[in-house]
Amino acid sequence: MATIVLNMLHQQIELIKSHYTSYITEKVPPGSLFQAKLPNCTITAYRSGKVMFQGKSAEKEAAQWQAHAVPNEKKQRSTDQHQWAPPKEIEHLSMIGSDEVGTGDYFGPVTIAAAFVHNNQVDLLKELGVKDSKYLSDLQITNIAKDLIQTIPYSLLILHNKKYNELQRSGMSQGKMKAMLHNRALLNVIEKVDGRYDGILIDQFANPDVYFRYLSSEKQVVKSVYFATRAEGLHLSVAAASIIARYSFITEMNKLSNQLGISLPKGAGKQVDEAAAQLIIDNGEHVLTQCAKLHFANTQKAINLAKRKRQSLK
Ligand code: MN
Repeated sequence: MATIVLNMLHQQIELIKSHYTSYITEKVPPGSLFQAKLPNCTITAYRSGKVMFQGKSAEKEAAQWQAHAVPNEKKQRSTDQHQWAPPKEIEHLSMIGSDEVGTGDYFGPVTIAAAFVHNNQVDLLKELGVKDSKYLSDLQITNIAKDLIQTIPYSLLILHNKKYNELQRSGMSQGKMKAMLHNRALLNVIEKVDGRYDGILIDQFANPDVYFRYLSSEKQVVKSVYFATRAEGLHLSVAAASIIARYSFITEMNKLSNQLGISLPKGAGKQVDEAAAQLIIDNGEHVLTQCAKLHFANTQKAINLAKRKRQSLK
C-alpha cells in the first residue's frame, strides 16, 4: 500500500479539508486535525502539518497538493535531482514554457498557455515587463499580455466550465485535464517554432511519473521536458506563458461576470459561496454548470446558503 507524506501550511490543510468535505470521518485519530476516507485513499492531517495519503490512489491524491507542499530539505534535494530537473544554465537557453491558471478558482475556466522565448528575446521581454506573474496586478498582466501575444509564438487553451464539468463527471481528475492541456499546448508551440528551441519547461503541478501516466492514452506525448516547481522564476518562457494564461482567465471572468450581471470573485472562499448562492437565487442551480467547477465543496455550501436566504425572506 502506497503511503505519501506531505508537509503543508495550515492554510493549505484547510483547503485540503474543504476539498474532501464529503469524505471527512466523524472520529479523528489522536493528534490529527481531520481524516478523510475516499474509496481508494485515506487522508490524515496532523497538527504538525504533516498530511498522510495512504492507499491505492495515494499518489494520485497527493499529486494534487504536492506543488503547495513545504519542501522539507531532504525531499527538496531529491526532487531537484529527479531526471526531469532543468539544467543550471537554463536561463541562457531558448525554451518553450507552459503554465496553467484557474485550477483553484471555483468560478471561471482553466486556462493553459505554452510560449516560446528565444534567448535573444530575453532583454526585450524584460523590457515589456515580463516577470513572475505573482508580482503583477491584473492591469499589468493585461497590458503586458497584449504586447506578448504580438511578440512571441504561443498557444492558449481554454477549458470552459461546461466541458470541465462534463469531463469531471465522467471520472477524469483535474490533474489529468491539466496534463492533457499542457501536452496539447506544447505540441502546438513545437509545431510553430519548428525545431528552434533548446528545451521545454513545465511548471510542475504533478509528480513527473504521474504526469506521464495521465498521458498514457494520448497518441502524441511530448516526452523530453523539464519539470520544476515555481518555474516562472527559472525561465521567462514560463513567466510569459503564465501571464498569457492569467490574461485569458481575467478576460473570461469578466465575460462571465457581464453575462451573469454579478462580479464573480476569484478563489474558493466565503465570498465565492456568497456569489454562488446569489446566482442560485437569481437563476437556479443549473447556472453554475456554465460558470463554476461543480465538484468543489463551494457548490454544496452555496446551495445551503441559498436555501437559508430564501427561508429568511419568507
Ligand atoms: Mn503553475
